[in-house]
Amino acid sequence: MIVVMNHGASQDQIQAVIARIEELGFVAHPIHGVERTVIGAIGDEREKPALQQIEGMGGVENVVPILKPFKLASRDLKTASSVFKVGDVSIGGEAVCVIAGPCSVETTESIIASAQAVAAAGAQMLRGGAYKPRSSPYSFQGHREEGLKMLQAAKEATGLPIVTEVMDTRNCDVVAEYADVLQIGARNMQNFQLLTEVGKVGKPVLLKRGIAATITEWLQAAEYILREGNQKVILCERGIRSFGTETRNLLDLAAIAVVKRYSHLPVIVDPSHGTGDYHYVQAVSLGAIATGADGLMIEVHHDPQNAWSDGAQSLGPDKFTGLMEAVKPVIRAVGRSHPW
Ligand code: PEP
Ligand code: MN
Repeated sequence: MIVVMNHGASQDQIQAVIARIEELGFVAHPIHGVERTVIGAIGDEREKPALQQIEGMGGVENVVPILKPFKLASRDLKTASSVFKVGDVSIGGEAVCVIAGPCSVETTESIIASAQAVAAAGAQMLRGGAYKPRSSPYSFQGHREEGLKMLQAAKEATGLPIVTEVMDTRNCDVVAEYADVLQIGARNMQNFQLLTEVGKVGKPVLLKRGIAATITEWLQAAEYILREGNQKVILCERGIRSFGTETRNLLDLAAIAVVKRYSHLPVIVDPSHGTGDYHYVQAVSLGAIATGADGLMIEVHHDPQNAWSDGAQSLGPDKFTGLMEAVKPVIRAVGRSHPW
């Protein structure tokens, strides 16, 4: 439920409503807008009738139910799009953001080479997996903490903030020590314990859409993180499983528009996993920006032919530089800016 306070509501009235919401067993999430304060009352929906009592309290304009299965992620509660920073990088505002780097962290030398290449082309964050979710147990699983240290070296060499995946609640703390953004991979989108743990860590979270997840399920997954008090969630569309074999996944560009309609959270697109083939990465990136994406996450390797994982979908430095130039007019055409 959303408690809408009227324009002139005093601090005391706001505090009294928050206290009453909590007495009723809900968690209160106040959002102080320019115009007015609204307070989300989030909890067991069977208690709804109790909340009607709040309607009569001082300073309350009205109480509206949130009918959607996601609440804190919903624009019903927060109409303005969320904008937040990772280091100096702004996410969700006018500027488009690009995260780039290899699929997995291989060696210190190679992650530094890839990081320098993506930084030179204008990327604002470095990606790279130290804990890798691989379909086969015989594939390279990542260097784990050693890989995190390699990422740290690349961050020191370039200044780029780090986006890296956490796969297990047992590794949340160590990944959070090195990462600026914790990535939840597609295969873990509905690992509810992991979502809850990363919600508690307090660092921004990049939440990929599950391989067969509906948009509602994706936003409900985000809700698990938001519910822990972590408001910095970046959604990432990376394609869903389909029947075609020409691309690895079916990248759902319409999902960007749907998410933008229902949620205030920023949404970025990963055309690399979305297509599985470097030939299509630039074209799909242009489409993603035109559709309203707040950013891109692209696999770039300094030497894709020798990449330890996902070489076929990785761009080399030249192709990535070309993409960063090609996307500029589209960014401007949709009224946004590129900080590179
Ligand atoms: C990744 O980004 O490294 C990755 C494994 O992607 P996804 O979870 O989307 O498959
Ligand atoms: Mn990959």
